[in-house]
Amino acid sequence: MPISITYICAKCGLNGSTFSSWGRFQYKVSDKLISLKRDTGICHMCHTITPVEILPTKTEIQKIVQQVESGNVRPDALDENSYRLYALKDRQAPARCLSCEEHDFDILPTVEKDPERARSRTPIRTGLVHKNCGGQIYGDPFGPNFFMGDKLPERIFTVEGIEIT
Ligand SMILES: [Zn+2]
Ligand SMILES: [Zn+2]
Repeated sequence: MPISITYICAKCGLNGSTFSSWGRFQYKVSDKLISLKRDTGICHMCHTITPVEILPTKTEIQKIVQQVESGNVRPDALDENSYRLYALKDRQAPARCLSCEEHDFDILPTVEKDPERARSRTPIRTGLVHKNCGGQIYGDPFGPNFFMGDKLPERIFTVEGIEIT
């Protein structure tokens, strides 16, 4: 069972959990669905702990595009990871917050469960500072684990990162 990490800002109390990033997130490219890479971040526009999009670098994309253009491989023969890179070749917008579609966010560092802390249950300092208030952000990997089974959401996005509803 995956563990969820709860994050909290020590100054303003903003909090949320990696649980928000669970479920299936996909791009729709013509009639294909390909998985959208994401992480949990803190969004400075909608002020939430939220899933955020992770985009490949231009170099990663270019490598695949060159392979296709040189005729070495057909797009429909690419594996899912390479096909995601290929599908994102014309992407214009920077990575988005998947709650409000804006771009101003920080990715939250993961915190590890270590046995010493498990005893005292002290939240762990992530080193990240909440841009809006200057507070330290702490992560707590000892919260309850949820398991929603089939109820995990499925969300579908365009290659520009806009949710299709
Ligand atoms: Zn704060
Ligand atoms: Zn947002």
